This record gives sequence, structure tokens and C-alpha cells, in this order.
Amino acid sequence: MLEIKKLSKCFDDLEVLRDINLSVSKGEVIVIIGPSGSGKSTLLRCVNLLEQPTGGEILYLGQDITCLGKKVTDYRKHVGMVFQKFNLFPLKNALENVMYAPVKLNKVSHKEAREQAMELLRKVGLESKADTYPAALSGGQQQRVAIARALAMKPEILLFDEPTSALDPELVGDVLEVMKQLAGEGMTMIVVTHEMGFARDVADRVIFMDGGYIVEEGVPCDIFTQPKNERTKSFLARVL
Ligand code: ADP
Ligand code: MG
Repeated sequence: MLEIKKLSKCFDDLEVLRDINLSVSKGEVIVIIGPSGSGKSTLLRCVNLLEQPTGGEILYLGQDITCLGKKVTDYRKHVGMVFQKFNLFPLKNALENVMYAPVKLNKVSHKEAREQAMELLRKVGLESKADTYPAALSGGQQQRVAIARALAMKPEILLFDEPTSALDPELVGDVLEVMKQLAGEGMTMIVVTHEMGFARDVADRVIFMDGGYIVEEGVPCDIFTQPKNERTKSFLARVL
């Protein structure tokens, strides 16, 4: 579904991503771990074209998306993103947040978008909060609305950038539960997280990044029980 080849990204003199190669198959759940500043967010932002890569290719269904020009908006409909800080529209209630993009970008009728949005709020356990504004929702509820909003565009791939890092510990579980459910339904997901339990239980593959490189990748039980690289070992020793 997605093939990243020799991807690099520089901000002026700073090389943030170097020679990133990664293939993602349909239905696969990839978890990216690694220390702060290692380039995890930048990698997700390149996949979503929120950042323009400096070099290399990103093939989506075989087509290089780094040179799409005006078709970027179309591409982004296929690739949803969920951010650490939720980024909900503050002046719209939960239902309106979820309805907005389908009506605006996909020209879905108001009635249909509303029904679909209610369905998605039900899916994330927030049907009763449809009329509530973000400021009156807990962080965990806001994040679940953000997930419903991303799902409303019927994406092929969902990217999560530390979706539970801004949450109080007792609210993390509900969000992870929704993500687990999506993974179980076959959603293709790339998840940056520090939740090692989630990585172990849900990931098909774990990627360890450091210094802009993919240092090591493998199935969770290999990465967590017998990491090969010294940097992976010392990172895991610190976080586990
Ligand atoms: P991570 O998500 O792994 O913590 P990031 O991808 O956010 O890492 O950042 C990797 C490096 O790129 C950091 O050194 C960060 O300061 C730098 N960086 C990220 N975004 C920008 C930007 N827009 N301009 C300049 N430097 C940036
Ligand atoms: Mg980050």
C-alpha cells in the first residue's frame, strides 16, 4: 500500500530523516518508537505531505506522492492523521467536528454526514456527547472525537502521532481501546507511541528510530525480548 524509499528530510542544515526505507501492507499495524527528536513526527508528517521530503520517494499504491502538485488534497483524503493535541475545531461541537470534512471536501449531504458522524461517535463510545463542545470534553474524549473525525473521511491509512501522550494516565486506556478495535477491523495504521504494551499487543511490526534513521525493525516479540542493536537495547532499558 505504502512504500517509502530512501526518504530524507532536512530543515536547513539539520538532517532529520536519513535513508528511510519502509513498506506498509494493507491491514498492517506499524508502531514507531524511539527517543524524542529522532524524527518520528517528521516521518509521519512526510507521509501525510504536511512536510515536503527533501529526497527519496513515497509510493502510495505505486504512485509517487511527493510530486503530486494540486492532487495533494485528494491524496490526503486517503491518509488520516490523529495528533497528540487533538486539534479539534473549538467552535464546533463533537458531531460538527466529525461532519465537517465529509460535507466540505467530499460533498456528502448534510443528512448523510450527520448519520455517519453519529455512527462514528457511537463507535468511539461518545454518542451521548454529540452536542458537547471540545472545551467541555476530557482529553481522552477529545482524542476519541478526533479519531472519529479522521475516520469520517474513510481513510485507507491512519497515522497517529503520540495520540495518548497529552492524556492523564486514567484516560489513556479508552483511546488505546478504540485504536485496538480499529486494528482488529483491519485498518492500516502507523502509530508513534510510547505505550509499549500497545506496541507489544497490537503491532505487526515495531520500528525503532534514532538520529533520523530506522535503526531496527521487527515483530514485537523480537524487538522487545531480543533487540540486536545497542541503541535499541539502551532505549528499551530506559522505557520498559
Ligand atoms: P520526534 O517526533 O521523534 O520527537 P521530530 O520529527 O519532531 O522528532 O523532530 C526531529 C528533529 O527535527 C528535531 O531535532 C526537531 O527539532 C527538528 N524539527 C522538526 N520540525 C522542524 C521544523 N519545522 N523546523 C526545524 N526543525 C524541525
Ligand atoms: Mg514527535
